[in-house]
Amino acid sequence: MMTERREEGSGKLFGTNGIRGIPNELLTFGFCSRIGAAIGTFARSQTIAVARDTRLSGDFIGSAVTAGVLSTGKDVVDLGTIPTPALQLYCRNTHRFGIVITASHNPPQFNGIKCIDSDGTELRSTDESAIEDLYHRSDFLKSHWSSVGKITRDDGQVGRYIENIKSLVDTERIRSRHYRVVIDTGNGAAFRSSPELLTELGCRVVSLNSNPDGLFTSRNAEPRPENLSELMLVMKSGGFDLGVAHDGDADRAVFIDESGKFVEGENTLALIIKYMASEGDRIVTPVSSSDVIEEICRGKSPRLIKTKVGAPIVARTMMEEKASLGGEENGGVIIGDNQYCRDGGMTLAKVLDIMAMTEKPLSALIGELPRYILLKKSMETEGRPWSELKKKLLSAFPDNRRDETDGLKIFFEDGWSLIRPSGTESVVRVYVNSKNEKAALILQSMVLNALKP
Ligand code: MG
Repeated sequence: MMTERREEGSGKLFGTNGIRGIPNELLTFGFCSRIGAAIGTFARSQTIAVARDTRLSGDFIGSAVTAGVLSTGKDVVDLGTIPTPALQLYCRNTHRFGIVITASHNPPQFNGIKCIDSDGTELRSTDESAIEDLYHRSDFLKSHWSSVGKITRDDGQVGRYIENIKSLVDTERIRSRHYRVVIDTGNGAAFRSSPELLTELGCRVVSLNSNPDGLFTSRNAEPRPENLSELMLVMKSGGFDLGVAHDGDADRAVFIDESGKFVEGENTLALIIKYMASEGDRIVTPVSSSDVIEEICRGKSPRLIKTKVGAPIVARTMMEEKASLGGEENGGVIIGDNQYCRDGGMTLAKVLDIMAMTEKPLSALIGELPRYILLKKSMETEGRPWSELKKKLLSAFPDNRRDETDGLKIFFEDGWSLIRPSGTESVVRVYVNSKNEKAALILQSMVLNALKP
């Protein structure tokens, strides 16, 4: 399912979200320490921050990468097990380069190495290529014995992360509402930060799966409805105002309303834009996002900028355009006032802020948004190249308006379909968006048929 097939010696190591693999398979001690040396050689700051999610192999991979960094003469500050956005905040505030050991929502046997630039954003792909190049050429700084790097520990980042989030919402107003919240951290990196944040926001908190067991025994780390039945069941009891779940490294947050209904990520983003964006603001979202975002922006007249798919691209574009809000349909929301990265804890606080401001339950807030259906499906390519698949689509829909920002987006009378090859698997992803569920299903089968050999 992911970037496991990588050969040492040449080629790409970084996928769309860092380097991912299984410890002692792709992620051997030698590989990790050499990548650490390449990162230490590349990084512009003298000190590099290292953090990890709750995975069992976090100490092993983190220590191997750290040893590589130290060999180049750079120092490491170990921030422990914290959410990825907490590390990103640290990097932005200290102008230090960062490394996070995480495989986000992937199964527990995986782990990964992801680099954070000294401005807190995910590293540009050109910089990742530069690290790969150093790795393949074994072109590492090699420190004299007397000046190898040192490790310090800093356990204060969760506290600073929570304080930063609180400074960006109306804490007193949220506290006055005494919300009852169920939080499902899914054994992931927010096991401490999100329950603490909620407590400080005056919520009565029920915490599910907050044991950081590193195995994701309670549920799959991807916060999709099929993995959140336990949380939805608790919410259906009727005793709570809000349910929230994070992915493994807590850069994303998804919500369950007070009746136990799953809120699609694009609706969370639309809600935040509706209440937080001002006239003239810039909003950034990938071409895969539902038109609910477009319709909300049209109503408020901020400028909407569409990018290729991928959170790092959205974040970089936001930074360049000084955009106020952005994000993806999977629960990854980026709030420019906070930092240019997805932040699950921040998203949670903003949703509570909107509930407190409007004094409306989440179901009502979501019910007031324009309704769109966004369908997603993956199709095996069976080795057929993208050029061939694209040709088939163009001949099936020759006269339709199209957009080639990422893959191929084809517009129909009652919706659109985006078809794009995956960067890491031999599949194409087919997105369909329409106001009408039946029309969406018809569009989906038309496109899937056109892709058939
Ligand atoms: Mg993640």
